Amino acid sequence: MIGRFSPPGRPLAALARPLLAVAAAAAVGGATAQAVQGGALFSPVAAGALTDPARLLRPAADVTLTPSAPVRLLTVVVPSTESAAQISRRYGVDMAAVRLLASARGTRHAQVSLAPASRERAPLWPRSVQPYRVRAGDTLAGIAARHGMRIVDVLGVNLERRSLDRVQIGEVLHLPTQERGVLIRIKAGQSALSLIAGYGADLAATARANGVLPTDMRIGDALLLPGVTAAGFQQQLLAQRVAEQRAAVAYDQQRRYERFLAQKQAQRRREQVAAVARQVQYERFLAWQQSAERQARIRAYEAQERFEAAQAAARQRAQEAARLAAARPPSPARAEGRATVQRASTGAVRLAWPMRTFRITSRYAERDIEFHRQVFHGGVDLAAPYGTPIYAATDGEVSRSGYGDYGLNVFVESGSSTLVYGHMSRTAVVAGQRVSQGQLLGYVGCSGICTGPHLHFEVRLDGRTVDPLALLP
Ligand SMILES: [Zn+2]
Repeated sequence: MIGRFSPPGRPLAALARPLLAVAAAAAVGGATAQAVQGGALFSPVAAGALTDPARLLRPAADVTLTPSAPVRLLTVVVPSTESAAQISRRYGVDMAAVRLLASARGTRHAQVSLAPASRERAPLWPRSVQPYRVRAGDTLAGIAARHGMRIVDVLGVNLERRSLDRVQIGEVLHLPTQERGVLIRIKAGQSALSLIAGYGADLAATARANGVLPTDMRIGDALLLPGVTAAGFQQQLLAQRVAEQRAAVAYDQQRRYERFLAQKQAQRRREQVAAVARQVQYERFLAWQQSAERQARIRAYEAQERFEAAQAAARQRAQEAARLAAARPPSPARAEGRATVQRASTGAVRLAWPMRTFRITSRYAERDIEFHRQVFHGGVDLAAPYGTPIYAATDGEVSRSGYGDYGLNVFVESGSSTLVYGHMSRTAVVAGQRVSQGQLLGYVGCSGICTGPHLHFEVRLDGRTVDPLALLP
């Protein structure tokens, strides 16, 4: 049963004394407190009648007792050391509702009357404290300013808040519309009077602000304590905010440090991978240096040098013979000399360029070039874009077409000479096929050991490489 002042809005300053009297009565745990709490509809009494607090302890003409619902009685076993006050706090009833029964063999019983009112009505809430739904862009400070109050006034009626800053759209806050103070929900073991006393609030002002007699309030009711500020609570939230900001800074620093570490680690990993790759390359180079293939190539190169020296000597001799022949009448020796020159200079092979457009990037016999990682370069490298067609430099028969010494390569036999076309991206002929000069053999690529698309073009006469440029127009 809610005891409300009637008529509402009537000046209540006059009630201060009777209320104090009620509080005193409640403190001593008198039976009258129960009577008032148990269902008295409180009506204002004349100021003159307030001189005698005992008057309040008796039902007066202006106090109407409503018929109370049947009281529920509980008989409970309690520790022998527990007082009636402790039991009453535990059950949230007035001390008068607890009756200690005679103990039998060390076990004490108590009878607790549960007031029906405490189960019948909804928890009280002061009318002056209104809900406010948080909108987009709201802050606690903004809401307070807009309603003409301090943040601490907002905090006072929102003690369940955990932060000064975080408000979420749609969240419901409470705002005091009249009295500023602290809003507390009465918990088990508390009463409105104990809270008023504990916070040092004014009894009359509290009764006015809540619109109900403090003695009528029960556990679960919301009690507004006017004039009390939640400064301590605000301080606590401020301190928490500072701590949170510090934690955020520390977290950010930690994150940055971890990112820095990760970057350093990745850098070290890249360096290690690069070092391993260099080592592998170097070892491959060493292996190549010591390989039988390289030795064979060196021998071939030396043979080539001897061959070229012999060719040069032959040319010299032929020129010498021609000079002598020009100085002498014709003889069989002169005809023999001319034939030698012809064979030596052309090798009896007439070549056409294997591509229409290209750039010579490596010439025959270039030593120790990075590109081939070999001592002797047995052909010429003609660089051209990927997919540039490659044509047969001379007629012949395809002896190989597929992966070989120079990646995807094609070997064409022509009499005693072999022409090699290397590093193709695709071949257009098959082994055993006859090709004629200018016929499509394949396309420029970078297969095998290669750093950029080019054609490795090699000419072997009687198994020995010769400079293709010497045979090309
Ligand atoms: Zn090459």
